[in-house]
Amino acid sequence: MTSTAQVLPEIVKIGVGKRIGILTSGGDAQGMNAAVRAVVRTALTLGAQVYAIYEGYQGMVDGGDGIRELGWEDVGSILHRGGTMIGTFRSKDFRERSGRKRAATNLLANGIDRLVVIGGDGSLSGLDLFRAEWSELLAELVAEGEVTQEVADAHPALMFAGLVGSIDNDLVGTDMTIGADTALHRIVDAIDALASTAASHQRSFVVEVMGRHCGYLALMSAIAGGCDYVLIPEQPPADGWEQRMCAALKRGRNEGRRDSMVVVAEGACDQHGEPITSDYVRQVIEDNLHEDARVTILGHVQRGGTPSAYDRWASTWLGYEAAVEVLTATPGTIGPVLGFRGNRVTRVPLIEAVAKTRQVPQLIAAGDYEAAMDLRGGSFKEAARILAEMVEPSRIDAPEQSKRIGIMHAGGLAPGMNAAARAAVRLGISRGHTMLGIRNGFPGLRDGDVSELGWSDVESWLAEGGAELGVRRTVPLVEELYRISRSLEDHKIDAILMIGGWNGYQAADLLHRERDRFPTFGLPIVCIPTSLDNNLPGSELAIGTDTALNVITEAVDRIKTSGSAAKRAFVVETMGRYCGYLTLMAAMATGAERVYLHEEGISLEALAADVEWLRQSFASGRKLFLAIRNENANPLYTTDFLARLLEQESHGTYDVRQNILGHMQQGGAPTPFDRLLAVRLVSRALDLIGAEFDAGTTNSYAIGLVQSKVSAVAMDQMMSEMDLRLHRPKVQWWLALRQILRAVADEPS
Ligand code: ADP
Repeated sequence: MTSTAQVLPEIVKIGVGKRIGILTSGGDAQGMNAAVRAVVRTALTLGAQVYAIYEGYQGMVDGGDGIRELGWEDVGSILHRGGTMIGTFRSKDFRERSGRKRAATNLLANGIDRLVVIGGDGSLSGLDLFRAEWSELLAELVAEGEVTQEVADAHPALMFAGLVGSIDNDLVGTDMTIGADTALHRIVDAIDALASTAASHQRSFVVEVMGRHCGYLALMSAIAGGCDYVLIPEQPPADGWEQRMCAALKRGRNEGRRDSMVVVAEGACDQHGEPITSDYVRQVIEDNLHEDARVTILGHVQRGGTPSAYDRWASTWLGYEAAVEVLTATPGTIGPVLGFRGNRVTRVPLIEAVAKTRQVPQLIAAGDYEAAMDLRGGSFKEAARILAEMVEPSRIDAPEQSKRIGIMHAGGLAPGMNAAARAAVRLGISRGHTMLGIRNGFPGLRDGDVSELGWSDVESWLAEGGAELGVRRTVPLVEELYRISRSLEDHKIDAILMIGGWNGYQAADLLHRERDRFPTFGLPIVCIPTSLDNNLPGSELAIGTDTALNVITEAVDRIKTSGSAAKRAFVVETMGRYCGYLTLMAAMATGAERVYLHEEGISLEALAADVEWLRQSFASGRKLFLAIRNENANPLYTTDFLARLLEQESHGTYDVRQNILGHMQQGGAPTPFDRLLAVRLVSRALDLIGAEFDAGTTNSYAIGLVQSKVSAVAMDQMMSEMDLRLHRPKVQWWLALRQILRAVADEPS
């Protein structure tokens, strides 16, 4: 049974007297280091001892130096590194029973009967086999005199927690595996780069990405990269796909695209089981479109580089949960796999998850593609449907008598606004509506700055930061409502898609409340959350937050390097208004030792304690300290104040620098996650509006992501979720994660 894991409400020394072994096995994945760091530090915080098992299961088989105790500092400065610092290996010896017997001997020699294993489905099934054999192996070792009965009795069972490290994102039952988000970053960066050169030469590119049995990377990068066609293992194309693909590419060109981009998963096949190679796709394009086509095989680049912000904070959370799980396990419990479902960690039974994962290729081979897609889950299927609609739309011109939907932005600028507007235009037209761009927010609506947007008008918007439609923070004044109402009437607007932040929500709410006085406001309005601050009702995550988090993470990586030659403390300030989400997640992603949030406040006592801790810490060898402060954490204890305080109290033993990251957090191309979230939320918002049109009703909503599901809250309800004074939701799901930061950042004395 799947269940949601819980972060401990406080730090309790549940690990005293217990020893954990940790290993990474199979293919490496970015984020493994973050998970290793979190397992080690959480276990130490909880009072346990932790042993690294080097080179996957091989270290366990070999024993000796292959198993070594780790301390707090041994996992310092690894969060930002790709790969795995404890090595990984495909151990042949461990596949043999004799190898596993040696492994048991070596674990017992170190007093270890609790394991955290980070690997793919192969590594995890090896783990389960080892667990099942444990007592038998021990009995044999006792009989052979290798292990005493006393030792065997002290370790009656092997307890474990599994984490999935796999860039393919192929484990059935979880939404994201460690490394998948970073791989998506690498691919989408490459697609963005190829698009500019391809467009210069009017060329086609075929991009081959990893995924032997799983089309996740191909499908998601095709959506996030705005590609023309995708070929994935779970949906082998029916005969004649070559012509359909070329028609899709031609349509794009006719609508003004200067490049074409096809993404092929390495395991793509047709319905006869024949592999579809990227070179064959290239040939098809050249033969049919009579133009140059080039193949780019991304290969190991996808495994490389620094992990994304998500792969750092999510793996930190997973590592924390794995340590807690394995330290609370009792002999006889069978350990789970821990993974993400939406933005929560869930426990999935290992055997079931591995069995279902292995079923997918079998279903594909048997031609049961629907069942294979079912196992991939709801959001994968939804993404496949959306991509199909994007590349083979029902229509690309609005019909005469169609409903007219206005798209607008309001609130603060957030990356991903353009991606959302582009998706709205294309999906809206495909669904038979006329799509209108309302420029410059509510002032633009008031002034009638409205014009129709066609399929090709939004071609280049996907990867662009900023907001092509313009955005204003202005909430209309009551005296402006009449002009807004006239403008809605003049442009015959039947529904509004407000893609924006807090001021946009306030304005939408105002129009909705004034519908009795202004009948033209009686139209469906759907708000889609875009905000760096992640402070909006109806959604646990806003579009743009992930991009901002990545910008902060990259900036802090550089800032930290600048301090590596001296003893230095940094105080970094992030945006977020009164919401600490960005600050806390940035702290998790960058390995900050302290975080200052408005939600917790800053007290003089806490500052005094921090100053003292810092002085001692530098005195006993610390070289770098990082604190991250939310811009509104406290009106008096500003970033400048904190930096001066630390400097003054350092008595010259370390120096202090402050960095206010400012508007760079709003800039840059949106991350794959933000582009995908934008497309997904827009598609659902259009579903809602379509349903209102069909029913002849005018209900309005705020749409968003709650846990793993897209859901909508009625506009009448949405403001009741908010703390109106501080402009943030009354319940903030992520606040419990502060405990994780404490466990991994605060070295126990
Ligand atoms: P991944 O974990 O990435 O799927 P592999 O399938 O290559 O990668 O597995 C990694 C390692 O896990 C193998 O080299 C082996 O040491 C161990 N392993 C995998 N499957 C088994 C098994 N059935 N029995 C024992 N060990 C296994």
